[in-house]
Amino acid sequence: MFETGHFATLWRNMAVALGLEVDFVPTDWRHGVDPEVVEQKLVEDKGHRIKSVMAVHNETSTGVTSKIPPVRAAMDRAGHPALLMVDTISSLASIDYRHQEWGVDVTVGCSQKGLMLPPGLGLNAISEKALQASKSAKLPQSFWDWEAMLTANKIGFFPYTPATNLLYGLQEAIHMLEEEGLPNVFARHDRHAEATRRAVQAWGLEVLCADPQEYSSSLTAVMMPEGYDADALLDTILKKFDMCLGIGLGKVKGKIFRIGHLGHFNDLMLAGTLSGIEMGLSLAGIPFSKAGTAAALEYLADTLG
Ligand SMILES: *Cc1c(COP(=O)(O)O)cnc(C)c1O
Repeated sequence: MFETGHFATLWRNMAVALGLEVDFVPTDWRHGVDPEVVEQKLVEDKGHRIKSVMAVHNETSTGVTSKIPPVRAAMDRAGHPALLMVDTISSLASIDYRHQEWGVDVTVGCSQKGLMLPPGLGLNAISEKALQASKSAKLPQSFWDWEAMLTANKIGFFPYTPATNLLYGLQEAIHMLEEEGLPNVFARHDRHAEATRRAVQAWGLEVLCADPQEYSSSLTAVMMPEGYDADALLDTILKKFDMCLGIGLGKVKGKIFRIGHLGHFNDLMLAGTLSGIEMGLSLAGIPFSKAGTAAALEYLADTLG
C-alpha cells in the first residue's frame, strides 16, 4: 500500500485491524503510487508473501489521482501473482476508471461521492482471480463474504435486508449518468478541475498535487501561504457565506483546503464556490491576487460546449 494521503492511511489502518501485515510505502502526500516501487517490491518478493497491491485511485485528502494502468503493467513485468485492489470511492463516475480493461482484481466504491447519493452503499467489482483467492483466504468473512452475496444475487435477493431506497437512488443516478454520457461526465469534471486550477494559480496560490499528470478532476487541494491557517479561512467562509469546504486531513491539517467539484456539479456552482473563496481570502487577510474567479470564468466561457 502507498501512503498517498489520509484515505490510504485509513485503508492501511483497516487492514492492520484485520490482522494483515502491511508494507506501507511513504510519499510526500503530493504524488500518487509509484509503479517503479511496485515492480521493485514484487521482484524482491521471491516467496510471494505479498498478496495484494493496494492503491487509492483518487486520494481525496490531496487531490492526487494515481495512474492505475502503469501499476498493472509493473505487476505484470514483475510476473508476480499478487492481486490489484483499488479504492475508487471519490473517482467512480467522476474520473475515467476501467476495472476490467485495466486488469484490476478488486475495485471498491461507495454511493456517497460521484454517484451523487447519500452514504450507505458499498460496491465491489471483483475479478475471477479475486473470487478464487477469496475461497482459500483465511481471514474471517461474514459481512464481507462475497459468496453469500453472489449466491443470493443469483435469484435477485440479498443475504440481508438491502438498503432498498438507496438502490432506487442508484438506479436513478445511473440513469442520469447515462443520459449525460460517461465521456461527457468525465469531460465536465476535467473542465471544472482545470477552471479551478486556473483560479488557484491566478490567486497566486499553489495546488498541492505536484505532478500535472496526476491532477484530480474530483477535487483540488490548495496550499495556504506560509504562516496562514487554512482552518481559520474555512471557518470565515462558513460563517460569512454558509459554504463548507474540505479541511486538510491528517498530516496536512491547517496547511491546505480542498475544493470539491465531483458528482452533481455545474458552471454556476463552481462560480459560486470560487467567489466565496475569493471573498473569504480577502476577509481573512490572506495575501493573494483577486484574479482567480475571473480567470476561471474566462476559461469556462471559452470552453462552453
Ligand atoms: C470518502 C472516501 C472513503 C470512505 O470514507 P468513509 O467516510 O469511510 O465512508 C474512502 N476512500 C476514499 C478515497 C474516499 O474519498
